[in-house]
Amino acid sequence: MYTGGARRAIEARIERHLSKVEKFHWHIDYLLGADGVCVRKVFRHAEDECTVNQQVHGSVLTKGFGASDCRSGCVSHLKKIGADDRHLFFLHSGLK
Ligand SMILES: [Zn+2]
Repeated sequence: MYTGGARRAIEARIERHLSKVEKFHWHIDYLLGADGVCVRKVFRHAEDECTVNQQVHGSVLTKGFGASDCRSGCVSHLKKIGADDRHLFFLHSGLK
């Protein structure tokens, strides 16, 4: 499960993640650009991304993933939450 956030234009950010991008900017762009990776479901939350991320119980796949600008001590914003690695879920904060 990946937890991301956007202070504004949340729908545009989610739409970007759901489409194939050519210029990779965030860690998640590289993951989504890999063969066989797809988004299964998007969950929207009003809380900030770190609060939501810290409530997700799972194992860290890659330290620092999606957390370059994290100030809340998250080890990673990408966690494995099930046995099937092919499923990627998004938690997206920023909605009010
Ligand atoms: Zn964080």
